[in-house]
Amino acid sequence: MLGLMQHQPLLISAMIEHAARHHHDGEIVSRRVEGDIHRYTYTELAARSRQVANALDASSVAQGDRVASLAWNGYRHMELYFGVSGSGRVLHTINPRLHPEQVAWIINHAEDVIVCFDTTFTPIIQAVHSKCPGVKQWVALCDADKLPADTGIPQLLSYEAWIGGQATTYKWPDLDENTASSMCYTSGTTGNPKAALYSHRSTTLHAYGAALPDVMCLSATDAVLPVVPMFHVNAWGLPYAAAITGAKVVFPGPAMDGKSIYELVEAEGVTMAAGVPTIWQMLLGHILPNNLKFSTLNRTVIGGSACPPAMIKTFEDVLNVKVLHAWGMTEMSPLGTLGKLKNKQLQLSEAEQQKILEKQGRTVYGVDMKIVNENGEDQPWDGKTYGDLLVRGPWIISKYYKQEGNDPLVYDAQGRGWFPTGDVATIDADGFMQITDRSKDVIKSGGEWISSIDIENIAMAHPAVAMAASIGMPHPKWDERPIVVVSLKPGQQVTKEELLQFYDGKLAKWQIPDDVVFVEAIPLGATGKMLKTKVRESLQGYQLP
Ligand code: ADP
Repeated sequence: MLGLMQHQPLLISAMIEHAARHHHDGEIVSRRVEGDIHRYTYTELAARSRQVANALDASSVAQGDRVASLAWNGYRHMELYFGVSGSGRVLHTINPRLHPEQVAWIINHAEDVIVCFDTTFTPIIQAVHSKCPGVKQWVALCDADKLPADTGIPQLLSYEAWIGGQATTYKWPDLDENTASSMCYTSGTTGNPKAALYSHRSTTLHAYGAALPDVMCLSATDAVLPVVPMFHVNAWGLPYAAAITGAKVVFPGPAMDGKSIYELVEAEGVTMAAGVPTIWQMLLGHILPNNLKFSTLNRTVIGGSACPPAMIKTFEDVLNVKVLHAWGMTEMSPLGTLGKLKNKQLQLSEAEQQKILEKQGRTVYGVDMKIVNENGEDQPWDGKTYGDLLVRGPWIISKYYKQEGNDPLVYDAQGRGWFPTGDVATIDADGFMQITDRSKDVIKSGGEWISSIDIENIAMAHPAVAMAASIGMPHPKWDERPIVVVSLKPGQQVTKEELLQFYDGKLAKWQIPDDVVFVEAIPLGATGKMLKTKVRESLQGYQLP
């Protein structure tokens, strides 16, 4: 017997109409490329999203066509989120930090018909437009009188001219909730990038999940600062989660330095911010030496790569800001787990609590996870046994875009498909998952795994160290031995011997790295994560001591 409830498709257009109706004066504040602050409300955001939809109709962009953005976090980008997807087109967010060759490859692979870009990225568009014959319209996200001149970019329009004359009313289509809504390519550190293609349904369910109390705990009383870029996995879904809860949104634009971010948090009463550890490192680099404090910020979601325990402690002890350590992937929309304590854990000592909070956390309802050994057998949730981490759920990919012939899932005895994350993890009895490595970064010494994340976290707790990458080097007896490559904070010194001594008592003797290699800077990828492939390349010819 079927239930007798209304079938209402879960659509992105409903989110923005909800925000406009119930939180009409909720604010969207953006630092613009020009440097000034722009502010308006959900009413105007919704009106202009409808103008985007009308502009797409006027430009004869078909349902399902891809419309790309190459843009910072800002109000116009958010209008594209709702106007493009809501009207049945697919928003393809492109990471502008990729090499122009890769940008051109991605535009052509996605078959984008319109590309909207912040004027900061004009040089990228100048480099790629002639290689992208499928693009019918290039749109600069600026006022009509700010359109970059003499660029050589054909069919170039300003965003304001493009949407300006359009009606602010629109009849959003009644789409099937499984219709594609947006897409994001993985950073492609191994081979050509692959795209996750999200749907209205997956995006809506993910927004509900993200807002839950034990996840980001979003509400209409919050002011949310997504520092995580809207070009990377939809800023972890925050624009949607904000719209369904009515939270105020504060966008940093291109000003991602510690001073600008701090000033924005204070000026706009930000209560929650989200970003990768490298961004917070910059923020702390501004706050700590200047003895600054936050007056409204009470929590920050940190994920995308392991958050160093020292950072969690500094936020908590010095700044009175809770760190919510989160884990996810492009293929997971991205939220998988987030670390919040359970009631019984609140009775534990501070040190014990800190140990739990260093883990990547518990699953968001909707994501199921397990760890398996090399034969695919389930491993115990004892907090010690490592395994390959597999996930399933309604906001996790089943196939990659244009790779429908390749099935990335692995199947269990009941025929249920699980997505292999490529991460190696433990899970404890309370469901707290801890990533020890990406499978390709695992260091195996004498048949035992050594966690590169542990080695890096300890190095980064040393006051002189800015960043650390641990790499397994070939060894005739042990197969591999770990070394740690470090960059130092400006004006700081530490010797190899001092740093190795710093590991004493923190790791078993055989897990302590054999060597320290000092470098000017650790190479970062397009999403602000360490590029271990590049670190490895730079070590060519290196010999273990
Ligand atoms: P890409 O795979 O293209 O680098 P993603 O953002 O999808 O981009 O990266 C997902 C991966 O990032 C995860 O599989 C995991 O290895 C790593 N990751 C994400 N969050 C964390 C975290 N909190 N701790 C450790 N690793 C993380």
